[in-house]
Amino acid sequence: GANLDMARIRADFPILHQEVRGRPLVYLDSAATTQKPQAVIDALVRYYTHDNANVHRGVHALSERATHAYEGARERVRKFINAREAKEIIFVRGCTEAINLVAQTYGRSRVGPGDEVLITGMEHHSDIVPWQMLCQHAGATLKVVPVDERGELRLDLLDSLLTERTRLFAVTHVSNALGTVNPIRELVRRAHARGVPVLVDGAQAMQHFRVDVRELDCDFYTLSGHKMFGPTGIGVLYGKAEVLETLPPWQGGGDMILSVTLDKTVYNRLPYRLEAGTPDISGAIGLAAALDYLDSVGRDAIAAHDQELLEYGTQALESVPGLRIMGKAKERSGVLSFLMEDVHAHDVGTILDREGVAIRAGHHCAQPLLACFGVAATVRASLALYNTREDIDALVRGLHKVREVFA
Ligand code: PMP
Repeated sequence: GANLDMARIRADFPILHQEVRGRPLVYLDSAATTQKPQAVIDALVRYYTHDNANVHRGVHALSERATHAYEGARERVRKFINAREAKEIIFVRGCTEAINLVAQTYGRSRVGPGDEVLITGMEHHSDIVPWQMLCQHAGATLKVVPVDERGELRLDLLDSLLTERTRLFAVTHVSNALGTVNPIRELVRRAHARGVPVLVDGAQAMQHFRVDVRELDCDFYTLSGHKMFGPTGIGVLYGKAEVLETLPPWQGGGDMILSVTLDKTVYNRLPYRLEAGTPDISGAIGLAAALDYLDSVGRDAIAAHDQELLEYGTQALESVPGLRIMGKAKERSGVLSFLMEDVHAHDVGTILDREGVAIRAGHHCAQPLLACFGVAATVRASLALYNTREDIDALVRGLHKVREVFA
C-alpha cells in the first residue's frame, strides 16, 4: 500500500512468518478471523503476568488494577466508535452473542403476535437464526430485503417492507460472503422515518474503515474483537443509552445485581445490568490494545490500503480464465468471493492450501445468500491490513495450478 510501511506492519504480526506445507504462509482468511499483532499478545501476557484478579468486587490492589484496565477498555471502545457514553458499551463474546442479546431482551419485550422483524438476504446466519427463533417464539413474521444479481440490497423495495408492524430492522454493514458495503446512514434514515429501530452487524466493517455510531445514528451496533486484530471471545454490543435503559435484564447472576434476597432482586445500572458473571477481562484488555494498534497505524491509511488491494485483487482474479467473481457491488470491502469453472470450491481450497495459501471455501455462514446466486459454495479470499500485492500474486499463481490440475 502507498501509505503503509508494509515491512514494519508485517513484522508486527509474528504468525505470518512461517512456512506451511513447505511454502511461506499467505494468509487470506481474515474475514474468518484476523491475526494478532505482537502488541495484543503482549497486553494479554502482561495482564496475566502482573494484574490478573476478578473485577468490580475486590478491595485489594490487583482487583483495582484489573477493574481499572477492564473499565479503561470500555472507555477505549467508546472513543473508537464515538459512542456518547461508556455505559452504551456492553461486553459480550462476539457479534453472535450481541445479536442474541438484542433478540432476547429488546425482541422478547417488544415483538408480539403479528409483528414483523426485517432482515436482509445477505445476513450471516448469526443475524438470521436469532430473529427466526424470536419470531417463532412471539408469533411474529420475519421479512427479508432481497439482494440483486450484483450483490446489492433492493433498496427500491425497502419502504414497502418497512410497515407499521416492523419492530426492528437488522442489517449487516459489510457482507462477509460478498464484501458488499451497505449504505447504513441511508438505511437508518429510512427506517427511522417509519419509527423502526436499526441493528447493524459490524463484524466485517471495523477492521477496514472508520465507524462512527453517532454519525450512522443506528440504535444497536455489534462488533467482534477477533475480526479486528483482537482476541477471540470478546465483542461489543453498542446500544443507544435511551434504548438500553429500557431493556429487561438478560442473563442473571453476579455483577448484574444491586441486591438479592431469596424473594427479589434489584438489578444493577448499565452497563453491568447486561453483563452477568465474570467477564472476559483479558479479552477486553486485548481488544483495547488492538484499537490502540489500529489507531497507531492510522485508520484512514488502513482504509486506503485495503481498498487499493481489493481493486488490485479484483483485476488480478479477472485475468484468470474461467474465474467468476461473485458480487459486483459498487461499494465493496475486504472480500473476494469467486468460483472457477468446473472446479468445486473445496478442491480449489485444497490445492491452494498445498501452496501455502489460506482461503475459505464453503457457504460462509450465509446459505440463503448463496442460494439466491444458485450456488452452494464459493472460494473466498479475504484481506486485512497486513496483506500485500505479493499475497494476491501468490493466490493467482495457485489458481493457475488449480487449472493445470483440472485441465
Ligand atoms: N456477522 C458477520 C457478517 C460475520 O462475518 C460473522 C463472523 N463470521 C458474524 C456475524 C459472527 O461473529 P462471531 O462468530 O465472532 O460471533
